[in-house]
This record gives sequence, C-alpha cells and structure tokens, in this order.
Amino acid sequence: MNSAQNILQTVFGYPSFRSPQDEIIQTVVEGGDALVLMPTGGGKSLCYQIPALLRSGCAIVVSPLIALMKDQVDALRELGVKASYLNSSLDVSTTNQVEQALVAGELDLLYIAPERLNQERTMSLLQHSPIALFAIDEAHCVSQWGHDFRADYLQLSILHEYFPDVPRIALTATADERTRAEIIHRLDLGEASQFIAGFDRPNIRYRIALKHNARQQLLRFLKDEHPEDAGIIYCLSRKKTEETAHWLQQQGFKALPYHAGLNSETRADNQSRFLREEGVIVVATIAFGMGIDKPDVRFVAHLDLPKTVESYYQETGRGGRDGEPTDAWMIYGLQDVIKLRQMMEGSEGSEEHKRAEQHRLNAMLGLCEITSCRRQVLLNYFGDDLPEPCGNCDNCLEPVDTWDGTEAAQMALSAVYRTGQRFGVKHVVDVLLGAETDKITQYGHDQLPTYGIGKSLDNNQWSSVFRQLVARGYLCVDMERFGAMRLEEKCRPLLRGEEPIELRRDIKKKEAKRLTKNYLPEDMDVALWEVLRECRRELADEQGIPPYIIFHDRTLQEMCVTVPQTMEQFGQLGGVGERKLDKYGPAFLQVINEYLA
Ligand code: ADP
Ligand code: ZN
Repeated sequence: MNSAQNILQTVFGYPSFRSPQDEIIQTVVEGGDALVLMPTGGGKSLCYQIPALLRSGCAIVVSPLIALMKDQVDALRELGVKASYLNSSLDVSTTNQVEQALVAGELDLLYIAPERLNQERTMSLLQHSPIALFAIDEAHCVSQWGHDFRADYLQLSILHEYFPDVPRIALTATADERTRAEIIHRLDLGEASQFIAGFDRPNIRYRIALKHNARQQLLRFLKDEHPEDAGIIYCLSRKKTEETAHWLQQQGFKALPYHAGLNSETRADNQSRFLREEGVIVVATIAFGMGIDKPDVRFVAHLDLPKTVESYYQETGRGGRDGEPTDAWMIYGLQDVIKLRQMMEGSEGSEEHKRAEQHRLNAMLGLCEITSCRRQVLLNYFGDDLPEPCGNCDNCLEPVDTWDGTEAAQMALSAVYRTGQRFGVKHVVDVLLGAETDKITQYGHDQLPTYGIGKSLDNNQWSSVFRQLVARGYLCVDMERFGAMRLEEKCRPLLRGEEPIELRRDIKKKEAKRLTKNYLPEDMDVALWEVLRECRRELADEQGIPPYIIFHDRTLQEMCVTVPQTMEQFGQLGGVGERKLDKYGPAFLQVINEYLA
C-alpha cells in the first residue's frame, strides 16, 4: 500500500487513511470487486479515486448526479488529476474532445451519467479504451425498493458481461439489508468484498427542542451559533419557506427560498448561490437536497416535523459532509403532532399502508420525546448498535428531567372523557384549571368532577402533558371535529391506575440554556480566519469555482492554529497536496505574513 499512501499525501494532502479506505483501495487495485457502504462524508470518493491513479487506464465513474459532475471534476483538476465528464450538458465538440481523450488514454477519471453509459456508442467507445475500473456511485439507485430508483441503473449489469476483467466498486450511503441484497443481485456483485461501515455521523449534533416562538428561537440559534454559516432550513409548506426566507433577509441573513413551485431558473439560481457563495441559507421544502454535495453545510434546521425517521436522517445528513461539527436542530410542538397525525388519517391508501405510516410517525415522535441519547435511538432504528450514549446530542449534553406523570395523565384523560371526547386541548385544559369561560358555562362543564382539579400545574405544563399523551398514542386528535381529542384503546391501563407514566419535564423558555458550542478550535485566531476566508473567496471568484474546492474550512482552521510561515510548513497542512501547495501556498502565505506584520 506504499504507493496508495504516497498518493494520499502528495495528491490529496492527507496524512492517513480512514478505516476501511485502505482495505477497499487495496482490493480494487488488485482487481477485485467491492461493495462499499459508508455514511455520507465518510470518504467514499478516495476509494475509487486512488485506485484510478494506481491502475493503468481510465476509471469510469457512474453517477446519477449530473449537477455535481462539474464540481467534482473541477475539484480533481485542482489536485492535478486528469478528470473529465460526459453528460447531456456538454455540446457536441466538447463531447468529442472528451471521447478522444478517453480513447487516447489521456484520462485518469471519467464521470458518466448512467443513461449515457447505456448507449451503444458509449459502450463501443469504452471497448476501444483502456479501462482501469468502474465505480458505481449512489448504487442504491439500482434498487426498486429504495427511494431513488433509476431505471438506467438496471442496465449496469452489462458492465460485468462486457468487461469481465475490469474491477467494479459500488458505493452507497443508504442501504438497508434489503437494498444491499438487491444491489448485489442486480449488479452481479456476488463475488465482491463487502465493506459495511455503519451509519453513524458523529460530527452531527442532534438537538430537538420544544417550539414556543419558532421565529425567535430560530433567530437566536442563528445569531448565537451560526451567524455566518451556510445551512438548510426545512419547512413543510412552500408558502412558509418563502415567508421565512423573506423574514430572515430582513434580519440580515443571506436566505433564499427553494421549493418545487418556483420556476426552474430561480431554483437553479438559488442552488448555485448556495454552492458558490459563503454563508448562504436555503429555506426549503424537501424538494431541496438530493444531489447537494456541498461539504460545509454547518446546520440543518427543521421548523416542522418530518414524517419519518428516514427523512429526518436523510435531511440532517446533508449537513457536515466535511466531517466538521454540525448542528441538526429541530423545534416541534403539539400542533406539529396534530397536523401530521391528521395528514396520515386523511391520506389515500389501504388500511395496511396507513398503519405503516402511523408506525413510522410514532417512531419519529418517539425520537422527539425520548429522554435518553438520541443517537442511540436513531442508529438503533437503522439496525446499528451504539453501546454507549454519544455525548453529542442534546439529551447527552444536558440530561432531561422526567417526572412521574401518572396522576396528571389520569386527570387529563378523564377530563377528555368527561367532556364527551368532543373538545380540543384548550378547552379541556380550561376545565382542568377551573377557568371561568363562556364555553364552560354553556356546556355546564363547571359541574364536572374534573373541573378545577388540575390547579397544581399551569397552562404550559398541561399542554406539555397533552402533547406527550398525543405523541405517545394515548390520545388521538380528530381534525374533522375541530381538533377534538379522543381516548385510544392504549390508555385503559393508565386510567385504571395499572400502569405508571414518566413524562419529560420541558425546559421553560427562561431556563432553556444554550448548549456550549465548540466549532472553532479554542486557540484559533478569529481575525486571521476572516482574512484567510477573504483570500479564499477572491481566488474562488477569479476561477468561478466554489471556495471549498480551493480549501475546506478544516484546512483554513489549521492555518489559524499552526500559522505556517514557509512553504514547507504550509505543505504539512491537511488538504494541501503538492499541486495546491504550488498553486495557492504563496498567496495564503503572503496573507498570513502580512497579517503577522
Ligand atoms: P462521501 O462521498 O463518502 O460522502 P467524500 O468522499 O466526499 O465523502 O469525503 C468527505 C470528506 O472527507 C472530503 O472532504 C474528503 O476530502 C475528506 N476525506 C476523505 N478521506 C480522508 C482522509 N483519509 N483523511 C482526511 N480527510 C479525508
Ligand atoms: Zn447522545
């Protein structure tokens, strides 16, 4: 593996492999097939890029993400690698040039869209060219069971027939066992070595808080923790994304909306600003994300609850691809629970389908209400086991208080029952608190035995009790009857006093502490950081590429800590290979030395 190590250092500028990159690379270099399952940001690209440089001929990378090809190729060229791409965005003459370079053996890596690969013409071209390997990226697209199925991927099995001696490496971040089996079957990878690296994204800090004033909470989160960072904010409705983006602009943020209802020009524009400018926030519906490969998304915020844990994990997973600390921040409240439960009720489909949806929603609500480590619950949901609490989620960092809510839950449930299961939360809480409202007089609810028995808790505490009872499925909410709550079968033992219930003690607004942030290294010179970012921005603008293609934040941070003053010292930085040392070292060193002077 000496030469792989050498390439890692001289071309990519990294000192060591992350396990199991070295084993994967060795397998492919020696001509073996591999199936690689690694979380986003785990470092899949090197697993085929380094073999591409070590084996003779050109590596063909099949990827469905056409929008990303240019950036990927730009990034490789920056490192001095001979890379190109073929997809529908190229004109005829450029296509011809690329094809000639391929046949002439002048390329190390060629990215190709799957539909292009399936053309007769391309296949014959490949047969007349020296091929080092095939890398099939986003390999889960071959699975009809998965969520990103692409019919063109099915044809990829012919690669093995046409090129029996060329190694193939299939890579994905999202594959449960069923999808994995389908990948192996459809791509004929039965003989491939499998490298399954688990799902954990340790650099993402999961935080789920109670919604009280969504905008103010969001604003404080952004101002305190991410004043200049790029991030994604997810909302459920198109209207809300536009309103939120507009409002954030007024607060001085570079915020842009993104949803399927915007015209394609605006969408492309906003996406490109997100990729190319620094510190842009996209406020989006779930339409945004597939194929976003920006490494330095520092936060993903949810203003509405996703419907499933899968969506939550996928959406939060778009943050922190570069491995740096990243926040997955969400706020939710009783209204979210009610809204989602209602959407499920009203959805089309069989009873079985609805039950499955209910089940998934319950898992999502369970994640919100859980008082122990969130990462353990998340990973467990995907069949991964994390033996110890993670230490990097809100529940680990600030343990949640619980209280014995048995008696309160009984009062709440019996108040729902006594008022005829016809009223919403507000009225039932009024009854419990013994309020004197017209509605109470009108219905004679001041005569009920439950009237005024709940005075030991206040309004907020009661709404917390009801939220948790709805979230955990003791109560359901009937939207066709104006949000009336009804008892579920499940609450019988609780009502009879046969079962206790522990409830979360919600942190009240004033008490809610800010989690300490630890993004930038303690001993980092922040003023230097700013001038370095400015230098990076100028260099990026000159060449029309995103700043992170020049250097990742991590490399800039290292500069601030180690303050290199010579080319030799600069070459020691992570992410600085020989080519980038030559090309950018002098400019950054000048900035550093001027700053020191
Ligand atoms: P994936 O495709 O698995 O999402 P990437 O291949 O884009 O991940 O890698 C994620 C980040 O990790 C990139 O910034 C990459 O440069 C960096 N990286 C990969 N391998 C290493 C390594 N051995 N040492 C340091 N950084 C690495
Ligand atoms: Zn945790």
